[in-house]
Amino acid sequence: MLKRKMLKNWGWPLRIASRGTEVTRLYPEVMMELPAAERGIHELDATTCIGCASCARICPNSCIEMVTYKYGSPLKNKKMQYPQIDYGRCMFCGLCVDECPAECLKMGKKVTMAGWEREDIVRGPDKLAVKKFTAKEAAELAAEAKRIAAEKAAAAAAKKKAAAKEGAPAEGAAKKVAKEGAENKPPKKAVAKEGENKEANAQEPKKEDAKPTEGGAS
Ligand code: SF4
Ligand code: SF4
Repeated sequence: MLKRKMLKNWGWPLRIASRGTEVTRLYPEVMMELPAAERGIHELDATTCIGCASCARICPNSCIEMVTYKYGSPLKNKKMQYPQIDYGRCMFCGLCVDECPAECLKMGKKVTMAGWEREDIVRGPDKLAVKKFTAKEAAELAAEAKRIAAEKAAAAAAKKKAAAKEGAPAEGAAKKVAKEGAENKPPKKAVAKEGENKEANAQEPKKEDAKPTEGGAS
């Protein structure tokens, strides 16, 4: 009974094999064709990422962390911060991709990922980047960014200096006006004395008023 069952189980694949019908794929050598809308492991274009961290902010599972990566462009991404994704938490919702203003983050078609350690499924920009600058290009860009920053700093310093120079005569004139005003003011004591005299005059009855009126009521 058992023998018959075993022979039957062997017979069926042999029959299929003789017909040339494919019954299974030899994974991982042969991968199935994925649909166009497949959301696989992210792909990052490090040459256009601006390091805005919008992807990290929108992620509902907080699995994106911004980390330093040197093969991007310091002209576009001043702090050289790029996304790192923890696939232990990612649910492949694609919100990070929709939110990216530079359209440099995409859902790729690679779906295989395995490792022995937890860190093996945390992918930094070095693993996500499908486009990046070479070391030479990155060094040239860094030098260019430095030159532009120095130029900007020099321009700002010159502007500040010019503003200070323009402000100096105006300040002098204001001081002069204040000084002149102070000189024209009567001394405090004299002003007080004048005030006292005025008050005394007001209180003293006028001599004419004090005189009894002649030929009063008759
Ligand atoms: S696909 Fe969704 S869960 Fe995964 S990193 Fe992007 S926003 Fe987060
Ligand atoms: S991948 Fe897009 S959203 Fe994320 S930091 Fe770069 S530019 Fe911003």
